[in-house]
Amino acid sequence: MTPAPANAIQSSPSLPLMHRIVLLGPPGAGKGTQAKRLAKELGIPHLSTGELLRAAASAGTALGREADGYMRQGRLVPDALVLGILRERLAAADAHRGFILDGYPRNVAQAQSLAEITPVEQVLYFEIPESVLVDRLSQRRNCPTCGTVYNLVTQPPRQSGRCDRDGTPLIQRTDDSEEAVRTRLAVYREATVPLLDLYRTQGLVRTVPAGGSVEEVDARVRAALH
Ligand code: ADP
Ligand code: AMP
Repeated sequence: MTPAPANAIQSSPSLPLMHRIVLLGPPGAGKGTQAKRLAKELGIPHLSTGELLRAAASAGTALGREADGYMRQGRLVPDALVLGILRERLAAADAHRGFILDGYPRNVAQAQSLAEITPVEQVLYFEIPESVLVDRLSQRRNCPTCGTVYNLVTQPPRQSGRCDRDGTPLIQRTDDSEEAVRTRLAVYREATVPLLDLYRTQGLVRTVPAGGSVEEVDARVRAALH
């Protein structure tokens, strides 16, 4: 048998580990970047409500069209709309062995709704100064085809403006504009930060300092997981 790599996340062979993980943190903290790496490593899906909503918006569904207006402004999409889309995604077969939730819950009511659908084992809180976020978000570029996230400064594509994987021209998210970012940070402080207290009282939170390189944060995420 090939030995597990030294940095692999260990699980006991007699005790199947159920990874139902929530990533919490401000926009731009690196949740999506780390979630994609971790999902690959653990073989469980990365569920981003932001990505699900953006996909619905580009498909032009009724839900997507309604959500789009809120997203452009940096406001939260109404709870009922997001819950519907998340419930459907969690019911898919690949989520039955665990998931990494990124961007949900975002307020206390959403946490209560989530608890009615599924338990959560761990909450990783990405802690980072706000000054870093504004830079990261203004430099973020996304591939609209495969969802890969780039950063013009810290994670640039090999060929300027094109996705490394499929060559698609990269886009800047409409809600990464300065005005929408300001709103998103205010919404985070008001609606999402109170969630931390809730999850802390449940003993679920591990703090991951989210400054430093992608590899450094990756190592901290692995160390925080149990
Ligand atoms: P979130 O999902 O929390 O909004 P992202 O994962 O999309 O954040 O990351 C925001 C931006 O910061 C992206 O441009 C990404 O490439 C970049 N980024 C992510 N993690 C790091 C890091 N550790 N150091 C530098 N840049 C990072
Ligand atoms: P994200 O991709 O996580 O940065 O989310 C982008 C945008 O999608 C947010 O600013 C909201 O408008 C919307 N959104 C994503 N997840 C949620 C959620 N759980 N509740 C409400 N709105 C959400």
